[in-house]
Amino acid sequence: MQSLVVDAEWDPRSEYDVSDAERASKKAMNSSQVWRDPDLRVTERERPTPADDEVLVRVRYAGVCGSDVSMLETDEDGYVHYSAYLGLPNVIGHEFAGEIVETGDDAQLFEAGDLVTAEVTDYCGRCDMCRQGFMGHCENFEQLGFTIPGAFAEYVAVPEKLCWDVSSLREAYGTDDEVLRAAATIEPSTITYHGLFARADGILPGDYHVYHGAGPIGLTGMNVSRAAGAGKVIAFEPSDARREVARDLGFDHVYDPIERDPAETIASITDGQGADVHVETAGAVGQTYPAIEDSLAEGANVVHISNAGSDPGLALRKYQGSGAQLYGSEGHTGHQVYPRVIRLMAAGKLDNRPIVTSTFDLENAADAVRQAAERVDGKVLVEI
Ligand SMILES: [Zn+2]
Ligand SMILES: [Zn+2]
Repeated sequence: MQSLVVDAEWDPRSEYDVSDAERASKKAMNSSQVWRDPDLRVTERERPTPADDEVLVRVRYAGVCGSDVSMLETDEDGYVHYSAYLGLPNVIGHEFAGEIVETGDDAQLFEAGDLVTAEVTDYCGRCDMCRQGFMGHCENFEQLGFTIPGAFAEYVAVPEKLCWDVSSLREAYGTDDEVLRAAATIEPSTITYHGLFARADGILPGDYHVYHGAGPIGLTGMNVSRAAGAGKVIAFEPSDARREVARDLGFDHVYDPIERDPAETIASITDGQGADVHVETAGAVGQTYPAIEDSLAEGANVVHISNAGSDPGLALRKYQGSGAQLYGSEGHTGHQVYPRVIRLMAAGKLDNRPIVTSTFDLENAADAVRQAAERVDGKVLVEI
C-alpha cells in the first residue's frame, strides 16, 4: 500500500543525554535534539495486520497537523523543529477518519463497515499516571503517526480502545464521504475542547473568548467556543488568508495583531471588561502573553495550548489582581472529550469542513505537508 513516510538521521547532539530506552527503540523523547536531515516521501509499505486488540481502518481522509510540518522543518544544524516523542522511519498522520475493514481476534467494540476516527495517544492503562486517570500522560505511551505507523496511508492499524464511532454524523452530513471528511477534523477540535473543558474550570456560556492564533487549532477551537455558547469569539492572526477563513466561518471579530493592538481591541469589544477566556494557539508567547495579561477579565481562564519554543516573562501580579488562572493543556485523551465533540457535530453545532482549504491525493501527500508549511491554509487534507 502507499504511505507517506518520514525518515531522518539518528544523530544525537553531543550535549543530549540519550537514554538506554531511546537508544534501544530508536525513538527520541526530544526529537529536536536527535533527528537530523529529515526526508519525506510516498513509499510502498506492507499493509498492516491488526494485532488482537486492534482494528484495521481503511483511511478516507487525513489532515496535516503543525506537528507533521515541524518534523520536516529544521534549524541551521539540520535538526528537526519537532521537539516531542518520535521514532523514525514512520508513516505520519494522526488526524483521520475511515472505515473499519478488519478486526483483531480480541477486538469487541467495532465491526467491519463501522466509520471511525481515533485518538492519538496509545496509553498502557497500567502505569501510575494511567491508574490515576491521567492516560494522556501515560508513562509508556506511543503515538499514532509519531512512534507507531499513522494515517497518511491506505490502511492503518489502530488499538480499538482509541477509536470512536462517527456514524452518528450521517444525519448532519448526508453521505458517508462527507461524514468522513468532517470526521477527519475532529482531532484538532478535541485539542481545544480538552483545554477549555477538561483543564480549565468554570467556563460559562456567554463568556468572551479570545484566540491568539487562528491556524488549524485556533480555527477549529473557535468553532468549539461558538458551539459552547461563547458570548463573543475574538481572534488575532497575522496571516491574511487565515483571517479570511475565520471570517468565512462567520466570525466578525478577527484582527491582525500587528496592525491592531490586541489589548486595546479587546477592551473596546468587551466594553472594558476584558476577556473571560484566552486561548494561546500561536506559540508566539513573547507577543501573546503581554496582550493576554493586559486584557484579563475578573476570574479569567487562560488556556495554554501551543508548543512554544521559549517562555514569556509572566506578569504574575496581573493574574493575582484579576483572580485569573493559567491552565496548561496537552492532547485530548479521556475526559469525555471525543464523544462530546462528535455530539456537537452530529447536532449541527460544529462544522469544521469550511476550514479545509486544500486537498491532496495520497500520491502527492508530501506536497500536502509542504503546502501546510506555508501557514496560509485553514486545514490541508489528504484524500485517500
Ligand atoms: Zn495534530
Ligand atoms: Zn500508562
